[in-house]
Amino acid sequence: MSSECSNNCNTCGKNCSNRKEGASGNPFAVNNDKSDIKKVIAVVSGKGGVGKSLVTSMMSVMARRKGYNTAILDADITGPSIPKSFNVMEKAKSVDDMLLPIESKTGIKMMSINFLLDDETTPVIWRGPVISGTVKQFWSEVLWEDVDYMFVDCPPGTGDVPLTVFQSLPVDGIIVVTSPQELVSTIVEKAVNMATMMGVPIIGIVENMSYFVCDKCNEKHFIYGKSNIEEIANKYGIKLVCRIPMDKKLRELVDAGQVEDFEGQWLDEMMEVIDGHK
Ligand code: ADP
Repeated sequence: MSSECSNNCNTCGKNCSNRKEGASGNPFAVNNDKSDIKKVIAVVSGKGGVGKSLVTSMMSVMARRKGYNTAILDADITGPSIPKSFNVMEKAKSVDDMLLPIESKTGIKMMSINFLLDDETTPVIWRGPVISGTVKQFWSEVLWEDVDYMFVDCPPGTGDVPLTVFQSLPVDGIIVVTSPQELVSTIVEKAVNMATMMGVPIIGIVENMSYFVCDKCNEKHFIYGKSNIEEIANKYGIKLVCRIPMDKKLRELVDAGQVEDFEGQWLDEMMEVIDGHK
């Protein structure tokens, strides 16, 4: 327990050994005694299709490249895309009532609903509480041994399911992913507000598909016009904004299941902050 402990987990974002509940008083899902997860980073977005899974994958790849034991909990139960980005199609096995995570080519441990379904094209048409229950099981009943960083690909949006997931896991920090289209609306502010209300620090915002670099003239084109990302970040006191361009090579790598081979420094600052260098 920290010496500054207020004994009120509701208002404290720290994940100390005494912590038993998340913000809003929800009890955290209990981890099994064989798992050891040191830091949990949640990746959220106001809506689907903005690149949340891509950012989760890229951050995990970067943490792994730095030599950390890295894991991904794919909490996007109705739209899992992590297995495909890493070309991991195996089925999960269990030992002593515990599910074993599947390891990617470079050794990132992951758990996703696709590792459990017979046919990955089967739609998951479960109601909210069942989805939240599955995510809690991914936390409690998977053998997460010796994990330095776990990245959680959260369900998109700010509804009941992402909220419950959020409240069930002891999250240390949040990355909010947006796209410029999203920024013209209030969706991103809702996502930022949800994170703020959870009492967990927002590490930074990623504006994905921010611009496009023409391979003929090499100029940056802001297809969606100038975004108001800086104003939103300032309004909420968020210091870090990273931008990822719309990138053909990146899309091809993800589609081919080779996200571990991506090149690009767009998220380097985010990794440095997580790593405590900034
Ligand atoms: P989300 O998790 O928010 O639903 P994804 O990460 O699955 O979104 O991305 C949606 C689609 O857009 C994927 O096919 C992905 O490869 C593509 N995509 C995402 N970001 C980029 C980008 N910066 N450049 C090119 N394609 C991208």
